Amino acid sequence: MAFRRSAQTLVTKKKCIPELARKYPWTRPQGDETGISIYNFYTRSKLPLILSTEGNLKWYVCGPTVYGEPHVGHACSFVRFDVIRRILMNVFDINVVFMMNFTNVDDKIIDKAKKVGQTTEQVSSHYESTFLKNMQQLNVLRPTIVHRVSDNVQNVIEFIERLVESGHAYVTGQGSVFFHCDSYEGYGNLSRMKVLPSEKTMFDDQKRKPQDFLLWKPHKVGEPFWDSPWGQGRPGWHIGCSALASKVFGGKIDIHCGGGDLKFPHHENELAQSNCYHHTNQWVNYWIHSGLVRREGDSEKMSKSRGNIITIPELLEKYTSNQFRMFCLLRPYAMEVEYGENAMKKPVQILNKLTSHRAVAQSYIHGEGPSVDVSNDVLMQHLASTQKVVRSALADNFDTQQMMSALMSLVQVCNRELSKPSNKNVIRAREVYSVAAITSYIDKLMSQLGFNLISKLESHADSANSSQSLEDIINSVTHFRERVRSFALGGDAANATDEEKSLIRVHRDSHSALLDSTDQLRDKLAATAGIIIKDAEEGPSTWHMIEKTSDRPSARE
Ligand SMILES: [Zn+2]
Repeated sequence: MAFRRSAQTLVTKKKCIPELARKYPWTRPQGDETGISIYNFYTRSKLPLILSTEGNLKWYVCGPTVYGEPHVGHACSFVRFDVIRRILMNVFDINVVFMMNFTNVDDKIIDKAKKVGQTTEQVSSHYESTFLKNMQQLNVLRPTIVHRVSDNVQNVIEFIERLVESGHAYVTGQGSVFFHCDSYEGYGNLSRMKVLPSEKTMFDDQKRKPQDFLLWKPHKVGEPFWDSPWGQGRPGWHIGCSALASKVFGGKIDIHCGGGDLKFPHHENELAQSNCYHHTNQWVNYWIHSGLVRREGDSEKMSKSRGNIITIPELLEKYTSNQFRMFCLLRPYAMEVEYGENAMKKPVQILNKLTSHRAVAQSYIHGEGPSVDVSNDVLMQHLASTQKVVRSALADNFDTQQMMSALMSLVQVCNRELSKPSNKNVIRAREVYSVAAITSYIDKLMSQLGFNLISKLESHADSANSSQSLEDIINSVTHFRERVRSFALGGDAANATDEEKSLIRVHRDSHSALLDSTDQLRDKLAATAGIIIKDAEEGPSTWHMIEKTSDRPSARE
């Protein structure tokens, strides 16, 4: 499976036609104001998101053509849409109906089936399950509704029939049906492009205009087919999305999305045929697209045909789904991105900062470590302003980049308070509520966006005694190591007399092997289990867990 060829490779000549875009201007929908602004590709501007049905959002995404392994390009697109979906659902409390199709009847699937000696059904169902499994590994929510083209051919036929009856499509002597682009003045309104394909397909001899596109292909030996009023054949690519989305949502969709390479011709064609079918000029209120992905150093987008893909199991061999989700969040969703080791450094770093902050904050909340007098007023004020900034960033075209920068600034302020010099004179109970409020807010927000930052120990604490036992074991190991280390160090050299210092030095020299062993144990636990032990100048050593390769389920599961 892959995104379709980009418009650039299909187009030999393209005309920029902004005048058409003015012909059918965007009409402000009647309905439910959400307070969110969203970039609409149709108008090339940010607009208020207004739902056609109160509290509910109808969202259609073009699913993959299932003929190959999904890759990082798909992962990025679907994680980005998943984040937006979760923001709408979890932050703004909108009920989202998210529909996706599988294009499981297509030239590429037929070619693949011939190549590997399988049926088209075997090929498409294999890659369909691979796609769903990979999305689950990336913690992408399942669509509310999934449809396959092959299960809905009657809907497709009915859709085409109506287009033929109304003069928007015509049947050729060979049994092909084409959309008649000249019959619809708005053709080109969305992408502001019209195309003159250089290559003629084998069925296009009777096309009236080069930009006319196939709705129905006549049967060829060895290909799947269905009976139709125009003879045996199968649906073209674009018509599947229109017919399936209309079956579920009727004549209006709030958001329609897809990869950036679908703008032309796919979305242009979808829009043209659907506007004609539904007698409207605005089948979709908002069109959004995810920016394409390039490998670091590559000038072209990642695609199967270019042979430069990284599959999702390959991605998850190196990084966790949390780390990849953070990568997707740190750039605007419509922006083209580079994926590679350099690009992944920052997301990995940010997640480590978040988990390490969480551990320090948890220790403080539970009364461990030195006594620090944090300023609850400062922290609560900073939390309140962060909450406002985060909400308005997310309401501004889902600006997750700005949201993360506000969140990390909150973490920084909280860390600064927690690392104040300890005050031995503070014997009153610590007021921990501001640190607890910050931890709780970060946990909630990150989980709303589809992250799982709660360690395995915590997430299983209620359901399994084994995690409690594991925690007890790590506590015991940390405590034992701390006692050995303390013995090997032999005393507090900072406050010792000169004579005591020389005794301590002799003591440490004779126990250097013990000190080395405690360091080795610390490094090994960090490298193999992601357990980070921190030795304090005073008070007990603490530990926390960070994400490690070995700490996540195998990508091959
Ligand atoms: Zn589509």
